Amino acid sequence: MDSPSPAALPAPPPAPPPAIVIRDLVKRYAPTGKGAKSDGGKLALDGVTFDVPQGQIFGLLGPNGAGKSTLINILAGLVMKTSGSAEIWGFDIDRDRRNASASIGIVPQEIVFDPFFTPFEVLENQAGLYGVPKALRRSAALLREVHLSDKANAYARTLSGGMKRRLLIAKAMVQSPPVLILDEPTAGVDVELRRLLWELVGELNAEGVTVVLTTHYLEEAEQLCDRIAIINHGKLIANKPTREMVEMAREKIVVLSLDRDIAEAPAHPAFLKTRLSGERQVEITYDKDRMNAGEVMAVVQGLGYAIQDVSTREADLEDVFVSLTSDPHG
Ligand code: ADP
Repeated sequence: MDSPSPAALPAPPPAPPPAIVIRDLVKRYAPTGKGAKSDGGKLALDGVTFDVPQGQIFGLLGPNGAGKSTLINILAGLVMKTSGSAEIWGFDIDRDRRNASASIGIVPQEIVFDPFFTPFEVLENQAGLYGVPKALRRSAALLREVHLSDKANAYARTLSGGMKRRLLIAKAMVQSPPVLILDEPTAGVDVELRRLLWELVGELNAEGVTVVLTTHYLEEAEQLCDRIAIINHGKLIANKPTREMVEMAREKIVVLSLDRDIAEAPAHPAFLKTRLSGERQVEITYDKDRMNAGEVMAVVQGLGYAIQDVSTREADLEDVFVSLTSDPHG
C-alpha cells in the first residue's frame, strides 16, 4: 500500500491515561444468616472491567440492584472489594488510598448536612477534613459556581432540596478533584432542578473535570454523557460512546392501520417482532439495515390488506436498555 511516509507526519498526541481503571472487580457481600441457612452472600459485582476516559461525562446505567452503588462505594473507599483492582487518576485504591481519595469527589444520593452549619461552613469543614490549607480554600468561589452565594451564611436547614443538592456538589469539589462521581444525581428531583444540575455538571466538565454519573434515567444519560456503560446483575453488558449505543438501536417500528380485522400477524424473515396492537392495527419491528418501511408495507399489502394509516418510530436508548437488560429466561 502507498501510504504517506509516517516520518513526514507529526506523531499524534498520546491519548491521556484513563481517569479511572477498573479491572475484574468482584464484590460478594457477607452472607446473611449462618450455617445451613447462609445464602452464600450476594454477588453484587461479578468481574467488572472498564476504563473511564479522561475529560468525559461517563454514564453508568443499570436497573435497581445492578451494582452501581457498590461500584461507586468501592471507589469511594466505603465498601471493601472482594477481588480485582481499581485506579483513580493513576492511584491504586489499595496501595495509594489517600491519593486515590483525594482524586475523586463523590456526590452521594442522600442529603446529609449538619443543619446548624451554613453552606460556607460546610465547605470549610470539608476542606479542613481534606487538609486543604486555608489559603487554598475556595469556598466562596464554589458557592458562586453552584449559584448559592446569596445563601453562604444561611443555616443549611433553611435551604430547599435543590439548594442542598447543589451544596453537595460544591462539597464534593473542595479538594479540587479531577474526577467527580454523582450517584443518581437527579433521582426524585423536578424537571427544573434536573436541568440546573445538568448545566452544572456540563460546566464542571467544560472546566476539565471528568464526570461519572449513575442514573436510571436513560434520557439523562443520552443527553449528558459522552459514553455509556450498562451494568446488570453485577456484569458490564455494554460500554460504548453514546452515539454508538443509540445506533445499536437498529430496530425500527412501523405501526400500520389496516382496512379490516387482522386474523393473524403478518410474518416475514426480516420482521423481528409483530404484534397486534388493535383489531385493525399491527405493530411491526424490523431491522432497519435489512429493509425499509416501504418494503414492510409491501409485504403486508401482498397479503391482501389495504393500509389506511402508517406511523414509524425509532427505537431510543430506552429500547436498547430494555432489550439489553431483559432476562431472556424471565
Ligand atoms: P444499584 O446501585 O445498581 O441499585 P447496589 O450496588 O445497591 O445496586 O446493589 C447490588 C446488589 O447488592 C443488590 O442485590 C443489593 O441487594 C446487594 N447489596 C447492596 N448492598 C448490600 C449490603 N450492604 N449487604 C448485602 N447486600 C447488599
